[in-house]
Amino acid sequence: MNPESMPSPSEFDFIDWVRQQSVGRDEIVLGIGDDAAILSQSPDREWVSAVDVITEGVHFTSETSPKLVGRKALAINLSDIAAMAATPVATFIGIVLPKTRGRKYVENLYGGLLDLAKEYDICIAGGDTNSWDGPLVISVTVMGTVPNGQAILRSGAKSGDWLFVTGAVGGSLNSERHLKFDPRVREARVLVGHFDVTSMIDISDGLAGDVRHIAAQSEVGIVIEGDQVPIHSDVDSTRDPEVRLNHALTDGEDFELLFTVSPQEGTRLLRKANSLNLTVSKIGECTTGSELRLRINGAMTPFPVGGWCHELGY
Ligand code: ADP
Ligand code: MG
Repeated sequence: MNPESMPSPSEFDFIDWVRQQSVGRDEIVLGIGDDAAILSQSPDREWVSAVDVITEGVHFTSETSPKLVGRKALAINLSDIAAMAATPVATFIGIVLPKTRGRKYVENLYGGLLDLAKEYDICIAGGDTNSWDGPLVISVTVMGTVPNGQAILRSGAKSGDWLFVTGAVGGSLNSERHLKFDPRVREARVLVGHFDVTSMIDISDGLAGDVRHIAAQSEVGIVIEGDQVPIHSDVDSTRDPEVRLNHALTDGEDFELLFTVSPQEGTRLLRKANSLNLTVSKIGECTTGSELRLRINGAMTPFPVGGWCHELGY
């Protein structure tokens, strides 16, 4: 317990409520209720974990529905697990609640979380509950598993590989899509089950920002074909094509997957995508060197400087 915690018995009463809502999974030997959870380990699989913190006033506002806040807090982590091509298993939720928010608010918040946890068959296996005079902060950790050595990293792209994106990008923050998106867990598993995916990342900071991570960590250059980028219908259709493309490349919070495959695998993917129920577009290619380039109507144009980055004050 923390000195800033909700005064008991409400904290323990709340934890008990969460425990009753949470559903188990085979890997969970011990969930909520003790000092720590116990998860079983299988010799042929590896654990993959990710944590994301979201804060009121930064990632959502005090007006955002608590159900959607809870949903997003978990969904963004599931997207990271998807980007590794892992299967999510368990989640741990740390919440710091404003003292002014009552039990109803936190139950609604958990309502959004629990619905998504059920949909993706993951167990809420633990957490921590505090309250304070500041804004709402939620830290979500997700643990997933993947067969040994089969997690897909950002660093495996090779010169000549084709660059693909799932779904469509742009306009997520102006619509409610950034709160309601479906993390691409199934798509990632189908992709690695059928194709040799060389690198993968999820798009949180914007396609142009996130493609930099693949380029830098794989030590390749990348050319994006602007005309091939699937622009989401959430991007204002009355704007000029170049403005729309810029939204698609830099808005962020799309939570689609950006990945690379060899040209042979890419050809096969384009042929089989429909029958595998995958929506993918080839949007570029990896090159030698380290340059990032954008081609529109056959002409190279400056690569957008995009991507969200938190100021750390140093
Ligand atoms: P401790 O003081 O030993 O950390 P807590 O009272 O904080 O114990 O937690 C008791 C149990 O309840 C633990 O299993 C913990 O993981 C779980 N728990 C606490 N808060 C939450 C929460 N917000 N969501 C899910 N589980 C929680
Ligand atoms: Mg604790």
